[in-house]
Amino acid sequence: MHLVLASNNRGKLAELQAMLAPLGVQLSAQGDLGVGEADEPFHTFVENALAKARFASAHTGLPALADDAGLCVRAFGGEPGVQTAYYATRFGYPKSDDNNVRALLEQMQDVQDRRATMVSTLVAVRSPQDPEPLIAMGRCRGEITRERRGSGGFGFDPVMYLPELGKTFAELPTEVKNAHSHRGKAVQQMIALMRAHWL
Ligand code: IMP
Repeated sequence: MHLVLASNNRGKLAELQAMLAPLGVQLSAQGDLGVGEADEPFHTFVENALAKARFASAHTGLPALADDAGLCVRAFGGEPGVQTAYYATRFGYPKSDDNNVRALLEQMQDVQDRRATMVSTLVAVRSPQDPEPLIAMGRCRGEITRERRGSGGFGFDPVMYLPELGKTFAELPTEVKNAHSHRGKAVQQMIALMRAHWL
């Protein structure tokens, strides 16, 4: 099966390709198929992921998989949540992973409660109007460090510290991150759903 990934995030693509390998599906980034970015106007991960998956499927004619992810910081009442990708722009920085991390460390400078959850919501549709999308959600609880540690991964990985492993995501080999991460947990559920309903 050929699936389009409703994202152009290379970090997500690499992780999802590796984790979905057991299914034998081919996963292509939508940008490589000439598809632009979908709007993400909603207040929940699941709504945005569904919108992204429908958009990618409509523009390619392929089944689509979307991953709407984000960081929910306990001391900020769960913010930035669905707005995570744009976090830095709230503080006048251009949109980028690096600026997101910089803005987060600045905003948390005086915050003692460092607890945060990373969320990944995966939605798969067979067609834009698929009435029965497959939906999987994974969460990973950690703490935001006071400085960057490690060079692996992407996004907030250098500041997302897992107390049980004593390391940030960016300090872990990819397979170890995938075994513990929000996305890894969501993918395991999605694989089971696809095996049961699609394959
Ligand atoms: P989106 O799902 O593409 O909107 O991504 C939301 C934001 O979360 C982006 O800033 C990503 O870089 C970040 N992000 C998504 N997944 C991860 C991850 O596994 N580790 C660290 N940051 C992530």
